[in-house]
Amino acid sequence: MTKPLRLRLNDGRHIPAIGLGIWQVPAVATAATVSSALQMGYRLVDGAAIYGNEEGLGQGLRASGLPRDEVFVTTKIWNSAQGYDSTLAALDESLGRLAMDRVDLCLIHWPCPAQGRFIDTWRALIRARDDGRVTSIGVSNFLPEHLERLVDATGVVPALNQIELNPRLQQAELRALHDRMGIVPQSWTPLGQGASFDAAPIRNAALRSGRTPAQVILRWHAQLGCSALPRSIRPARQAENLALCDFALTDAEMAAIATLDEGVRCGPDPAVFQ
Ligand code: NAD
Repeated sequence: MTKPLRLRLNDGRHIPAIGLGIWQVPAVATAATVSSALQMGYRLVDGAAIYGNEEGLGQGLRASGLPRDEVFVTTKIWNSAQGYDSTLAALDESLGRLAMDRVDLCLIHWPCPAQGRFIDTWRALIRARDDGRVTSIGVSNFLPEHLERLVDATGVVPALNQIELNPRLQQAELRALHDRMGIVPQSWTPLGQGASFDAAPIRNAALRSGRTPAQVILRWHAQLGCSALPRSIRPARQAENLALCDFALTDAEMAAIATLDEGVRCGPDPAVFQ
C-alpha cells in the first residue's frame, strides 16, 4: 500500500518524506543549493555541525523567502561534543551558525558506545527540547541496544533514527524495531551512491513506470515508511528526486527490490565508530 509522503513523528509533528542532504556540499555553494532546492519544493534540509556548512543552510533558507515555519531544519551533535554540558554548548553554537533560535530536529550523530556518553547527551537534548531550542529530538546510527538503553534510562523514545539504508542495506530487523518503538526511520545514503541503479528489479520498475532508477529507489523508501535524504547539488537531479507523488511501486516490485539486500554498508559500523 502507498504511504503518504509526509511522516508523523511520535511527538505529533510531521516530517517530509524527502529531504535535501547537504553532507559534502561545499560551504561556499550551500546557500545557493539550499535556496534553489527550497524554491523547487524541498521542505526538509538535513544539516550537521560536522558538515561545516550550517551558515550556508541558514542563509539559503532566508534567501528562499519562505517563512521559517515552512521548512524543517535538522542539525546533529558531533561525537566530540557528547556529554550533557558540551551538547548544550554545541547546540547553541549550531543555532548561532544557522542564525536561528530553534531547529526542528536535533540528532545525536553517532552513538559512540565506547565513550559511554550518549545517555547524558540524550538528557541534554531532552532539556533543549523542553527549553524550546529544539522541537523534536532523535538519534542517528543507533543500533537496537543503543535505542533500548536510551529508553530504559530516560523513558523518552527518539522521534527518529537516521540510519544508512538503501537497496543493498535494507535493515529489515532495525526497521521492525522502529515500528514497534514508534520511531521513524530516515535513510542516509538512500541511493546507495548509485550502486543498485542497474539491478534488474530497479531497471524493470523504472521501465514499467517511466521513471528513473533514482526515483524508483526513493519511492521504495517512501513506501517502506522511511524519510530519505538524497544528496545532489544539481537542480535537475534535485527536482527528479522530489517528483515521487504521482506514481507507486507495485507489491511485486517492492518484493523484487527486497531481494537486493546484501547487508553491505557504504559507511562505518556504528558499533565501533568514534
Ligand atoms: P546518496 O545515496 O544520496 O548518493 C549521493 C550520490 O548520488 C551523489 O554522487 C549524487 O550525485 C548522486 N545522485 C543524487 N541524485 C541522483 C539522481 N537522481 N540520479 C543519479 N545520481 C544521483 O548518498 P550520500 O550523499 O552519501 O547521503 C545523502 C545524505 O545523507 C547526506 O547528504 C547527509 O545529509 C546524510 N548522511 C548522514 C549520515 C549520518 O551519519 N547521519 C552519513 C552520511 C550521509
